Amino acid sequence: MANNQQATVALIKGADQVPEIAKIDIPSLEPLAMMTEIEAATLCGTDIHLWHSAEKSMPYIPGHESCGIVTDKNGDRYDVTGELVEIGDRIIWAYPFCGECFYCTVANQPTMCDNAARFGREPVAKYPHLLGGCATHQYVPPKSAIVKVPKNVSSELAASAGCALRTIMHGFERLGTVAAYETAVIQGTGPVGLYALAVAKSKGFKRVISIGAPDTRLALAKEWGADETLNIEECTSRNDRIKWIMDQTKGIGADVVIQCAGSAAVSEGLEMVRPGGRYLSIGDGGSSKDIEITPRAMSVKMLNIIGVRSGAGRHFYQALEFLSSAMFPFKDLISGSYPLEHVAEAFAGMKSMSEIKASIIPK
Ligand SMILES: [Zn+2]
Ligand SMILES: [Zn+2]
Repeated sequence: MANNQQATVALIKGADQVPEIAKIDIPSLEPLAMMTEIEAATLCGTDIHLWHSAEKSMPYIPGHESCGIVTDKNGDRYDVTGELVEIGDRIIWAYPFCGECFYCTVANQPTMCDNAARFGREPVAKYPHLLGGCATHQYVPPKSAIVKVPKNVSSELAASAGCALRTIMHGFERLGTVAAYETAVIQGTGPVGLYALAVAKSKGFKRVISIGAPDTRLALAKEWGADETLNIEECTSRNDRIKWIMDQTKGIGADVVIQCAGSAAVSEGLEMVRPGGRYLSIGDGGSSKDIEITPRAMSVKMLNIIGVRSGAGRHFYQALEFLSSAMFPFKDLISGSYPLEHVAEAFAGMKSMSEIKASIIPK
């Protein structure tokens, strides 16, 4: 299975250093591993966060949202629906949860598995080397759940399902049943906030309110069905924003508030939830900033505070099926596409937030 082909990759060698283009030998495949040629990789806030932080794993190939075509395999693998995966199939795939630890087995919470490689941050020096999406090729480990991409879903959108949308699917699963009278507030109008808005609309909330900025993204939120929007650049006071939500909800607060805006939004969001309501925290997984929570928010206010990390195979499948439904103009999320050689510009665009979601098209 060894070969002398090479992959072209983007390499991050130090915190905030411009990604460099390099060549890496394509490794031989372990039993049940596969090799893909990347069709598209999309960037998310976590890529920018990892880029800023001086990780021990440098240099690494960034990108944990990718969609590829299978070019080689060492044994037969099946996708999450039981279909044989063949050379030429277009796929996305989950982190390789070990299937043997406490979290994978007893707790049935595989995304907490400590033994899984996490794409877009593993040291390139370590086998199998090609574990980042900003590259011509990416390795699919034997334990990764695989999902074939429906024909009507573009590779860029399929890639974005592999982080933002699958995490949202997992979050809504943890949130549980939605009642037809309920109001949801979405904090954030980035890609995660917009996807969360779309899923919330499809789950049957009576009203969905988006809070974010700038105006262009709020316009997009409106187009995607937000019943009301609030611009945080115009309504700059935390207390005014909380009051506005109270005014929108007969003074009760929202049944559900979904955080897709970062840790700075959490304490404000907790104030927006009605007593006995639910707070789902999705965004800013990489932040270690402390926030203050008063005990009253959890006990007397009887809040359910729900966290979510990553997603398992079924969430990838749900994400692709949702995209395939074409219920929303999803392609609006992909704001710019870059060849691999221009990956540094894509990172700059994500950092400055001039891009909603940038995609890398290696070919
Ligand atoms: Zn495990
Ligand atoms: Zn991500």
